[in-house]
Amino acid sequence: MTDGLSVRDLAFSYGSKDALKGVSFDLPRGRFCALLGPNGAGKSTLVSLLTRLLVSPGGEISIAGQDLRRTPGRALARLGVVFQQPTLDLDLTVRQNLSYFAALHGLPRNGLPARIEAALRRLDMAERADEKVRALNGGHRRRTELARALLHEPQVLLLDEPTVGLDAASRAGIVAHVHDLAEQGLCVLWTTHLTDEVRDTDHLLVLHRGGILAEGSTGDIRGEQSLSDWFLQKTGGNA
Ligand code: ADP
Repeated sequence: MTDGLSVRDLAFSYGSKDALKGVSFDLPRGRFCALLGPNGAGKSTLVSLLTRLLVSPGGEISIAGQDLRRTPGRALARLGVVFQQPTLDLDLTVRQNLSYFAALHGLPRNGLPARIEAALRRLDMAERADEKVRALNGGHRRRTELARALLHEPQVLLLDEPTVGLDAASRAGIVAHVHDLAEQGLCVLWTTHLTDEVRDTDHLLVLHRGGILAEGSTGDIRGEQSLSDWFLQKTGGNA
């Protein structure tokens, strides 16, 4: 088990369809891990299990040392999540969206303005705090969601294909910001099907047909090939 995210023997089936088959990995804090897999590999199923939208019959998940099955409240309090679908209220300001989230999650009112300010500063969004989300571009909206996911100071950050729908510059900006967060000590699990979002120095988990096909440093895994060629050769780009 690590101080970040530990997954042991995780399996899940939809009826007779096996979506995950005995997945295990350990990610310490301070690590950026890209979870790469073609469509149908099982990424969404894994995200749903990690966030407890689904519950697996067996296996173990531990978030910053808390077992998700035995102490779900404590485990989820240590997890920040950015889902694929944006969930901001477009008619509220950036600051109001974060306050609303804080109230929903029972964060103490005492010190909340400073907490919001700090989270926005980490994403270079402090100067946009009083703008309505509707007025922001896609990249800034995503950064707002990231700041919101950090409000309760989680140790583990989970992002489900967070760059879907963003232009190239915004994508690069989000990728860079999240790497900074890992350097500051967060354990980051970034799911994607896009090889160009993965850096050679990133830890890489490749999910294929519900199992871990490869794990290690991206540079070591791809060897002399580009990651894109390696990935296509090993997975055909399909589940
Ligand atoms: P990914 O997110 O990597 O695209 P998913 O976790 O969505 O993969 O899917 C993994 C496998 O489980 C796929 O074969 C998919 O068709 C199947 N699957 C996903 N959701 C359901 C569902 N609700 N019912 C039946 N099969 C499903």
